[in-house]
Amino acid sequence: MNMEKSRLLFEKSKNFIPGGVNSPVRAYKSVGMTPPFIKSAKGSRIIDMDENEYIDYVGSWGPMILGHAHPEVVEEIKKACEDGTSYGAPTHKELILAEMIINAVPSVEMVRMVSSGTEAVMSSVRVARGFTGRDKILKFEGCYHGHSDGLLAKAGSGALTTGVPDSAGVPSDYVKNTIIAEYNNFDELENVFKSHANELAAVIVEPVAGNMGVVLPEKGFLELIRELTLKHGVVLIFDEVITGFRVSYGGAQGHFGIAPDMTVFGKIVGGGMPVGAYGGRKDIISMVSPVGPVYQAGTLSGNPVAMAAGIKTLEILRDNQCIYKKIEENAKELEKSFLDASRKFGIPLKVNRMGSLLSAFFTVENVVDLRTAMTCDVGRFRSYFQNMLQSGIYIAPSQFEAIFVSNAHEKEDITKTINAVNYAFSRLQQ
Ligand SMILES: *Cc1c(COP(=O)(O)O)cnc(C)c1O
Repeated sequence: MNMEKSRLLFEKSKNFIPGGVNSPVRAYKSVGMTPPFIKSAKGSRIIDMDENEYIDYVGSWGPMILGHAHPEVVEEIKKACEDGTSYGAPTHKELILAEMIINAVPSVEMVRMVSSGTEAVMSSVRVARGFTGRDKILKFEGCYHGHSDGLLAKAGSGALTTGVPDSAGVPSDYVKNTIIAEYNNFDELENVFKSHANELAAVIVEPVAGNMGVVLPEKGFLELIRELTLKHGVVLIFDEVITGFRVSYGGAQGHFGIAPDMTVFGKIVGGGMPVGAYGGRKDIISMVSPVGPVYQAGTLSGNPVAMAAGIKTLEILRDNQCIYKKIEENAKELEKSFLDASRKFGIPLKVNRMGSLLSAFFTVENVVDLRTAMTCDVGRFRSYFQNMLQSGIYIAPSQFEAIFVSNAHEKEDITKTINAVNYAFSRLQQ
C-alpha cells in the first residue's frame, strides 16, 4: 500500500504538533505504523491522502452512526453556516436539541450543552458536588471519562486506595477525592460504600464500558450501584458519551431500564460536530448558573452549526429505529466471523458485543474488567491490525477500543470485512 503522502505529512506534523496529532491514539504508536492522513469520507468509506480507500469502523470514535457525510446532515450544516456560525446568544436550535434529548431519555429532565464529552463529564461532577456538598467520587478502573484532572485516575488495586494520577501534571491532591473500584466487582463496590458512603458526591460509570474495549456490566452490577447510591443520597452519573443514542435511542439506560440521576452525552449528539451535554433530575441540574451556585459556561456552547448536525442526526435515528436493528445484525455477523476465524486458525479470542459495538480480544480469559482486558496479547493485535489495514479495513489502532458499526455499512462491506478477518487470522502465529 502506498502511504507516501501520509508519511511525509506525518513527519512534518511531528515538528509542529506534539506527536503529529491532536489526540494521542491517532499517532498509531501502539501498532508501530504511520497513520493514514484522511482526505475525505463518505458513507462507510474513508479515503487517505494517497487515495487508499478503507471501510471505516472507527466512525470518528463513535459519532458517525449514520456514516460519513450523510446528505441530510450535511445539508443542515450548510444551511446553519449561511445563517452565521456563532452568536454567543440563545437560539431556537438549542431548545429543539434539548427537548429531543429529554424526550429520548426520560431520566433527563433538563440539559446543558457544552462542546466536548470531557467538558460535560467535568461539569457533571462539579454539579454533583455542589448538589450534595460532598467531595469524593467513585469511578471504575478502565472507564474513561475524558481528560479532566480528577478523572485521569484508574490505577490503584484496592477499592480503598485513593486515586493515583495517570498523567504527569495532575497534582495528587486533585485525585485524592477520586476513589477507584474494579468494574463488575460487587464486593469492592459494597466496601467503598461501607467506608465512604457519607463522603461520596457521585458514582460515575460507563453503563457499558467502551474504553477498555467493550465490557458489559454483569447482571445486577448497575442495579447494585443504583440501589446503593439511592440509599446513601449519592448522585449516580451515567457516562453515555459512547452509549447514548448508540445502544438504543434511549441509550444504555433505556436498554437496561435503569434511571441514573445525571447523564453525560457526547459523540452522537453532535452528529460529527464538537458537542457534549449533561443533564438529569431537574433539582440537580437547577444547581447550574445562572439558576444555582455551580458555575459553568462556554463561548461556543450550543453552537448553532453543531446543534443543526445533532438535531438532524437524532431526528433520523428517532424516525428510523430499524437502524438499530440493522447495525446490530451486522455487528452480530462480524462477531460470528471473529469466533469462526478464531476456531479455524486456533487463535484464542473473546468477543464482547453490545448492539453495534464490539471488541475482539486476543485472550483466553473472559473480559469483564480492566485486569482481564490487560491479559490480551497486544503483539498479536498489532499484527492483526496491520493485516486488516492492508486489506482496506480501518479499525481503531488499539486492542482497547470498540469497533463501531454504522448504518452506512452494507452487506458488501461486511463480506469484505469478514474476508479480511480470515486473511488476517490466517497470518497470525498460533
Ligand atoms: C469519548 C469519551 C469521553 C470524552 O469525550 P471527548 O469529546 O473526547 O472529550 C468521555 N466519556 C466517554 C465514555 C467517552 O467515550
